[in-house]
Amino acid sequence: MSYLALARKWRPRNFGELAGQEHVMRALTNALETGRVHHAFLFTGTRGVGKTTIARILAKSLNCETGVTATPCGKCAACKEIDEGRFVDLIEVDAASRTKVDDTRELLDNVQYAPTRGRYKVYLIDEVHMLSAHSFNALLKTLEEPPPHVKFLLATTDPQKLPVTVLSRCLQFSLKRFPPGMIMKRLTEIAQAENLDFEPDALRLVARAAEGSMRDALSLLDQVIAFGGAKLTAEDTRTMLGTLDRSQVFGIIEAVVSRDARKVLDCVAQLDERAPEYRDVLAELAAVLQKVALLQAVPDLELDEAEDIDAFRRLATTLTPEDTQLFYQTAIIGRRDLELAPDSRAGFEMVLLRMLAFGLADAGTSAASTTVPTPTSVATGSTSRSAPAATARPQKASAVATEWSAIVAALNLNGPVSQLAAHSVLIGREPGKVRLNLDAEGETFRRPALEEKLAQALSAYLGEEVKLEINTVGAASDTPARQQRAAADDRMQNARRSIDEDPNIRAMRDVFGATVQPDSVRPSE
Ligand SMILES: [Zn+2]
Repeated sequence: MSYLALARKWRPRNFGELAGQEHVMRALTNALETGRVHHAFLFTGTRGVGKTTIARILAKSLNCETGVTATPCGKCAACKEIDEGRFVDLIEVDAASRTKVDDTRELLDNVQYAPTRGRYKVYLIDEVHMLSAHSFNALLKTLEEPPPHVKFLLATTDPQKLPVTVLSRCLQFSLKRFPPGMIMKRLTEIAQAENLDFEPDALRLVARAAEGSMRDALSLLDQVIAFGGAKLTAEDTRTMLGTLDRSQVFGIIEAVVSRDARKVLDCVAQLDERAPEYRDVLAELAAVLQKVALLQAVPDLELDEAEDIDAFRRLATTLTPEDTQLFYQTAIIGRRDLELAPDSRAGFEMVLLRMLAFGLADAGTSAASTTVPTPTSVATGSTSRSAPAATARPQKASAVATEWSAIVAALNLNGPVSQLAAHSVLIGREPGKVRLNLDAEGETFRRPALEEKLAQALSAYLGEEVKLEINTVGAASDTPARQQRAAADDRMQNARRSIDEDPNIRAMRDVFGATVQPDSVRPSE
């Protein structure tokens, strides 16, 4: 017995099985039951949403030997031949592959002849917008005066390219993409009927990869079966599809939220072992953030993401809506600019560091602010100082300041503009705007030309046109300039302290200062 592809084997054979396109089903059923079937239909929608399937069901409805019916028998010769794709009066044309004008013209010339086998000739012209101008004219002429025994089913992915004269003569239906949940349901039914041993997660991955196309979903399922053998596992499916492990994307976002730069880079290193397409990873990152934003706007929204719903809800409460927007924007801009990066992993890392630098910048507004763990830093600046100003501030502010120092270093500024940046601290970022506080020492550098220069450098770094909003404050703590000074002080203090506190030296002092027992002193190893 030859293997029949699942997409063909499980193609819906009547309107009742046509899940997901109920609006089309109802209209066609009504038309068939009242005997008023329009002579031309236009179905719009992407690939694999059921255009050919609907055309075949309609052809059966019109030609079934039991009479014109919304419920064709599926058993008579006409029904069988249509199901098997060999019914002479169902003429399927793919305009995308049929380039010769003559073929189409010949086809349309034959329209006037009566059907050979059935009651109606049904023409299914797929990608009808690809017809040549000449063929369009021939088609239009037929549509203007359609012979009573002919039905036209036109399908296109691009209705904008159709002339109004054609559009106005068709009854138009837009076919919807199938939501992943519905594909998942169908895949489960089929897998059970086929007695497959499967992990639900495997089917979920397939459902998501199909991007709304039921046909693609079934073809992918075929491939997974061929790849994985006896049992369909999520792991095999992921390998076969080359899909990213979603949990890794959540891991990255959570590392960014916790402001843990080292953890972020560790996540990237782990991800890199699978040699992913970083463009796709950024797309996935943006997709997750988009859903987080939806949940923040409508908390009880039903997401079609049963398996990851807890992770989505967790992010929706720990991220502020502003940060969600910023991260989303950073991800899509980063995706656009990825090809400009030295290599895609480096570009990806920069996008994440940018999120770290600019997200969560407004201390106190974030729900996460109380749960932020001790930040680690990729920058060279010191984050643990003993200066009173530093201990009085929440640690998060310190991390933001550190990131700002890292950015200023990355901007590679020279001359007075570098002083303007060095005496500023990052306060916050909104789309199109970066807010800075400038300390008293920096005021002499506050000149329009320098501000403009800094804004340009930041715009280039962020991949987005930004304006600066600078507030002069008496003493901005944690400016890059201060951090450098503090780091220098730290090194000095540390050096002194380390000599002071060195256990050996202390021991020696104790030993030499008090109870001197010369023979108890041993040479150090
Ligand atoms: Zn029949």
